[in-house]
Amino acid sequence: MTRKSVLREVREVQLAIELIELGARLQFLEAEVDLSRERLIRLYKELKGVSPPKGLLPFSTDWYMTWLANIHSSMFYNMYQFMLTHANESGLQALIKSYRLYSEQIESQGSEIVLDFTRAYTMVRFFDSDMLQLSTCCRCGGKFVAHAHDSKNGYVCVLCRPPSRAGKARGAKRAAPGIPSESGLQKPASPADRPEAAPAGRALQAALP
Ligand SMILES: [Zn+2]
Repeated sequence: MTRKSVLREVREVQLAIELIELGARLQFLEAEVDLSRERLIRLYKELKGVSPPKGLLPFSTDWYMTWLANIHSSMFYNMYQFMLTHANESGLQALIKSYRLYSEQIESQGSEIVLDFTRAYTMVRFFDSDMLQLSTCCRCGGKFVAHAHDSKNGYVCVLCRPPSRAGKARGAKRAAPGIPSESGLQKPASPADRPEAAPAGRALQAALP
């Protein structure tokens, strides 16, 4: 086995620390960071004070379709795409930066993080393996996470057509951020149609460079 350069090893440790602090799980760390499993586990324990949780990533694409999850997922994926295309970031750096931006945005509104890092990463993989797509809402122009191969014609998003119980669940109302539309402007809609979405949407647009 060849000896790794010290500098490279330091970078890998820094990357692992950054990912652990964002909430990455062990499987993800093993896939993305060039450090042994033992060292990753030790790092994790030192940073978090507990052993990394065991078990596989349990999610299916259905989770991303529920009302609140879809709003958060769509907000995150729009940021991720922005980082990839406009900020010229690699996949992993785009993931880290857009997840940070998403968390900061949600926290600045006093809302709760709905999309954790593992779900964000799993979603990116679902997009990469052509299981999810972004569909453009024909009413507001925002781009939302949808099942791949669903018809893109006449798609109406969860903000423009929320389910009747949307926003009534505890905490759901204030946790709903907005999605930037393609034009960068959100069309105003009646409050009944867009629960608490517009102020958050404007905040999101302001946060994007
Ligand atoms: Zn819409």
